Amino acid sequence: MRTVEEHARVIAALLGPTPAALIPLAAADGLVLADDLVANIDLPPFANSAMDGYAVRSVDVANLPVTLPVSQDIPAGRTDTAPLAAGTAARIMTGAPLPDGADVIVQVERTDGGAERVRIDSAPAAGVHVRTRGEDVTSGSVVLRAGTVIGPQQIGVAAALGFAELSLRRPLRVLVLSTGSELVEPGKPLGPGQIYESNAPMLAAGMSAIGAHVTVEHFVADDVDALRAVLAQAAAEHDLVVTSGGVSAGAYEVVKDALTGHGIEFAKVAMQPGMPQGAGRYAVGDRSVPIVTLPGNPVSSYVSFEVFLRPAIRAAMGHPDITRPTITAPLTTALTSPVGKRQFRRGHVDTVAGTVAPWGGPGSHLLAWLAGADCMFVVPEDVDHLDAGDEVEVWLLS
Ligand code: AMP
Ligand code: MG
Repeated sequence: MRTVEEHARVIAALLGPTPAALIPLAAADGLVLADDLVANIDLPPFANSAMDGYAVRSVDVANLPVTLPVSQDIPAGRTDTAPLAAGTAARIMTGAPLPDGADVIVQVERTDGGAERVRIDSAPAAGVHVRTRGEDVTSGSVVLRAGTVIGPQQIGVAAALGFAELSLRRPLRVLVLSTGSELVEPGKPLGPGQIYESNAPMLAAGMSAIGAHVTVEHFVADDVDALRAVLAQAAAEHDLVVTSGGVSAGAYEVVKDALTGHGIEFAKVAMQPGMPQGAGRYAVGDRSVPIVTLPGNPVSSYVSFEVFLRPAIRAAMGHPDITRPTITAPLTTALTSPVGKRQFRRGHVDTVAGTVAPWGGPGSHLLAWLAGADCMFVVPEDVDHLDAGDEVEVWLLS
């Protein structure tokens, strides 16, 4: 049997880093910057007002109150601002360019708000409420380093600097393929002996959430030729194929039957759930595509995604931290676990008490319990029993 770490290394080694690509800002959220982002303008690009009010020379408001003629009106966006004549005020709006000669903004609240002439009752010190050119970013400086994870704030500064697209590690293109002749697409009528297909939508959502581009191919029938035909087509357009089902010890194990001897190694991994696993490169003509074969039981499939695929996909897409956040917490109740296997149990964290409760049993078909869990916790290989109060490693899933 393989250890969890051994199988994780096999899967990680299948996925090289995705190349850099220019990606529009609207699709950048969650992706990782491939190159330093260097500003090619200043921010602000010109000196402007931080307030609605009046731009004046500070010498003209040294003795207060004072009434000054309003020599011009400067809304935001105005491009033909004249220098400020001495002894006058310019009515100015937030974000409008500061006229040459002005060095302070008097907020409208400190004045009578006049349009022809304005009475100024009090004034701030020189420089106040003026946003100077380049005070946030100077042209030529590195604003975001390569390796930065792009989120809303990073998209904001990139847009402010005028970038419509960013050089990002492009999303991994994944084909998710569920196998099993018993599977029916949700929304269709369920016949005798059939179950609804749940792995592909679940896995696709997990991968989309970390920025991968996922295509789903539902339930290739348990037919070796049909599966190989789908794979041959998929190889050209995907960086990874993930299958579910058809890898356990029974007969009609279509994934095993189709891929054994074709570059995929099937192995037992010392974990529960998720023991039957496979991975390798499937050769199609002169190219090959990485394939990871997950077990069909829904909870096994999901746990395998969390343990192997999620970190590998995040690493391939350049994420600096690839694992879930973990905490250590005491168990609320005792439990047992098979010796020789690392058990990944579904759990629920009580953030007030700081404890973790097992959520459902270890059964790998208990999907509703999986849906109610907010974490997984780990029972090590050499442990057969834990008592209430024993500490476990908890992977926070939400
Ligand atoms: P298998 O690995 O194909 O033998 O499947 C193991 C168990 O998981 C069986 O009970 C299957 O019906 C179930 N199963 C396999 N694939 C899926 C799927 N995509 N959605 C829901 N259940 C599945
Ligand atoms: Mg099956």
